Amino acid sequence: MAKIFCVANQKGGVGKTTTSVNLAAGLAKLNQRVLLVDLDPQGNATMGAGINKAGLKASTYEVMLGECDVATARQRSEAGRFDVLPSNRELAGAEVEMVSLENRERRLKDALALIDGEYEFILIDCPPALSMLTLNGLCAAHGVIIPMQCEYYALEGLSDLVNTIKKVHANLNPDLKIIGLLRVMFDPRMTLSQQVSAQLEQHFGDKVFNTIIPRNVRLAEAPSYGLPGVTFDPASKGAQAYIAFGAEMVERIKKM
Ligand code: ADP
Ligand code: MG
Repeated sequence: MAKIFCVANQKGGVGKTTTSVNLAAGLAKLNQRVLLVDLDPQGNATMGAGINKAGLKASTYEVMLGECDVATARQRSEAGRFDVLPSNRELAGAEVEMVSLENRERRLKDALALIDGEYEFILIDCPPALSMLTLNGLCAAHGVIIPMQCEYYALEGLSDLVNTIKKVHANLNPDLKIIGLLRVMFDPRMTLSQQVSAQLEQHFGDKVFNTIIPRNVRLAEAPSYGLPGVTFDPASKGAQAYIAFGAEMVERIKKM
């Protein structure tokens, strides 16, 4: 059965989607079978995997409302060699429409249960909010990966996310754990980056991943080609870091 991970942080622009897409591609390079769930109405993970979000026949939206199953809605990212449950702006409507549904925080979990035997990893790219969509991600997952920039405000807001995860753990999903904090867009030349990084290690110990993702322009360029950075320029420092992160995750799930 697949291990399911949310990539979550309620801040926008912190590297959730870049991490989701490139971890998926990195794991695929390590011969892992991966499903990437795009749970953000912005559809950036969908586009980054090389799938056109305009005019999807079926998407995360229909799956959440129970109108379609994952097996029908998923598409193959040939670029990344993983499967994608794609999304677009329609998904924003699900937030409201789910209010009247039964078991509304477990819609994604129930949908994924039908196909989780087909994968080693299911990665969920969460929207930048602690919303009903994110709650569905947290209810479906075994663990949370939290990408963070090593900057002064990085820790601000982290406690809200940690408290939400604790509440979900206590009330809705006893399996849920914080797997780790992932340092992203790291600039080793900045003293501040080094300091915040050291602080994170002090406070969170082994909850900080060993792998550090550097700031690397190839990762930022790749989506405009509809490619994961790992596929776009496999030799780049960013791609290499995400492949190393994939290897770290493969080791982690052996202990879960
Ligand atoms: P989120 O999904 O949290 O909103 P994104 O993954 O979309 O964040 O990243 C925000 C922006 O930062 C994007 O333009 C992305 O290309 C860029 N970016 C993310 N990670 C890196 C990195 N390691 N190096 C350079 N640019 C990055
Ligand atoms: Mg995103």
